[in-house]
Amino acid sequence: MPAPEPFDLRLVASRPLAPSVRALRFDRVDGRPIAFDPGQWLNLVLPLPAGELRRAYSIASAPDGTSTIEIAVTLVAGGAGSAHLHALREGEVLRAIGPQGFFTRAADDVAPALLVGTGTGITPLRSMLAAATGAASTSPIWVLFGARREADVIYRGELEALARERPNVRYEITLSQPSAAWAGRRGYVQAHVPELVAGLRAAGAPAEPHVYVCGLERMVKAVRATCRGDLGLDRRNVHAERYD
Ligand SMILES: Cc1cc2nc3c(=O)[nH]c(=O)nc-3n(C[C@H](O)[C@H](O)[C@H](O)COP(=O)(O)OP(=O)(O)OC[C@H]3O[C@@H](n4cnc5c(N)ncnc54)[C@H](O)[C@@H]3O)c2cc1C
Repeated sequence: MPAPEPFDLRLVASRPLAPSVRALRFDRVDGRPIAFDPGQWLNLVLPLPAGELRRAYSIASAPDGTSTIEIAVTLVAGGAGSAHLHALREGEVLRAIGPQGFFTRAADDVAPALLVGTGTGITPLRSMLAAATGAASTSPIWVLFGARREADVIYRGELEALARERPNVRYEITLSQPSAAWAGRRGYVQAHVPELVAGLRAAGAPAEPHVYVCGLERMVKAVRATCRGDLGLDRRNVHAERYD
């Protein structure tokens, strides 16, 4: 496999998605299209005073043949890389290396899929979902998103709209620290995976569902253990990406 290619990205827009999350849109400076598979990530080279830092960010947008991509960055306490990106101003240029990664789902994949993400772990899943939608896929794609509070739910409006418009798309949110007013699912994502996999098994039969899980290690491990253990999913049907 050839080494990933370096190229320059210019920040064209930065907007808050949640109290500690910003979405950043970049244009490739040379104007060439950015080719990648839904689910892949880029290494961003961050020029900090103390030296150069490289940090990986999943591409949140779908490959659409343009020179624009979006990422979403969680501001990590004491984290130099995420702080630099949150402070980046429009017009500033960064070096990117990529695309990279094997946590991918083809836009025309017909297998039923459960996409499980917490925090900015939703971003590669958003890319997969947008790519499948763009390819007019009718295979069941269900999204389970976990956050602490309602304010931390990112991309909610667009995912709810997609689920309303497309019978094959379902979008579920679970909150681990909900307010008393929250009427939706509660607790960690792993508690809701068995019910959704069972639903997909019924909806997508005879094909077994694939589960794509992305976020921090503890959650990824727990979801993987549930899928491989109690639910008896084959190793090849469980795809995972860890951020830490
Ligand atoms: C393949 C891959 C894709 C990634 N994609 C994204 C992405 O799309 N968006 C994103 O925000 N981050 C993503 N990350 C994490 C990102 O690369 C950095 O680790 C993160 O921004 C923290 O960097 P930092 O320099 O600010 O903090 P550091 O000082 O490097 O890290 C401090 C600690 O923060 C923890 N951490 C890392 N990421 C998170 C997070 N998202 N939430 C809470 N704690 C975290 C780590 O355990 C680390 O020990 C990805 C990581 C990998 C490996």
